Amino acid sequence: MTSPLTLDSVRRAPKALLHDHLDGGLRPATVLDLAQQTGYDDLPATDVDSLATFFRTAAHSGSLERYLEPFAHTVGVMQTPEALYRVAHECVEDLAADNVVYAEIRFAPELHIDRGLSLDAVVDAVLAGFVDGEKAASSEGRTITVRCLVTAMRHQARSLEIAELAIRFRDKGVVGFDIAGAEAGYPPTRHLDAFEYMRNHNGHFTIHAGEAFGLPSIHEAIAFCGADRLGHGVRIVDDITVAPDGTVHLGRLAALLRDKRIPLELCPSSNVQTGAVDSIAEHPFDLLARSRFRVTVNTDNRLMSDTTMSQEMLRLVEAFGYGWSDLARFTINAMKSAFIPFDERLAIIDEVIKPRFAVLIG
Ligand SMILES: [Zn+2]
Repeated sequence: MTSPLTLDSVRRAPKALLHDHLDGGLRPATVLDLAQQTGYDDLPATDVDSLATFFRTAAHSGSLERYLEPFAHTVGVMQTPEALYRVAHECVEDLAADNVVYAEIRFAPELHIDRGLSLDAVVDAVLAGFVDGEKAASSEGRTITVRCLVTAMRHQARSLEIAELAIRFRDKGVVGFDIAGAEAGYPPTRHLDAFEYMRNHNGHFTIHAGEAFGLPSIHEAIAFCGADRLGHGVRIVDDITVAPDGTVHLGRLAALLRDKRIPLELCPSSNVQTGAVDSIAEHPFDLLARSRFRVTVNTDNRLMSDTTMSQEMLRLVEAFGYGWSDLARFTINAMKSAFIPFDERLAIIDEVIKPRFAVLIG
């Protein structure tokens, strides 16, 4: 018998996550603990509830720039190996509890060196937290594979160094590279040498593009930088027209993205909060899914967006009437688009995702 789609049943479904920021997913209680332990005294609140409310309301600001402000505090408490390890470990625990079976978690090492850690020490601490988090989840009967993407900040000038870091750690758990941060004024073409380095070393990368900023950033990410995937990419909808009779027409760039199967790392709640779209119901997710783009569902920042993978899935179900087969398709889309080797992706699809969806579909 088919299980009804509820938050509880969606939680039981296997999920794959490609776009989630380590510094956007802390538990509020952990932020408080770490602030105390590390002597960080700039937090805007001193109890868990007020702090949780601060992060959530700051995120509902309607602009990407304001959405990014509360990250100063999460990054502020993540400046020691112990803090980085704990945040990474808890990240895996929280995802496993939501039945995420595969995740690529990204973070910007250059933001965690304020107290003198080297970039390598920062990545080592996070990867150790991921590995031990996987083991802890496994001991509770939950299988999860977590890999890391290292991000360079687009307004800074360290992207080549971060790309080198990605390649240096490629066999230790880092599977790709990314650039993130405010888009306006900082086009991805400022970082061409980093992307060239990644291509020269046969590395994978994604680029935050087409979130706050329109088609030019998507075009640059694909045409000039050679991105394997797009972080968000939601503004590709500006290159799509829907006629009064419902006929969908793709412009050249939209057609290229779809036809080359460039994965879109869509983050519905985050897009509403940054003002990229007005509501989930108006999110182009469904238009893109119906037009057969490689759409994937992601959380972006679980703390600031007050969300989980299950909640993102359920919001889409409520807005667009999706069923289990749609959720399975989005999950397989994500798994196909992962940066781990193809045989490992297939193993997770065939041995974990498909059988577990089959139980729910009945
Ligand atoms: Zn993001």
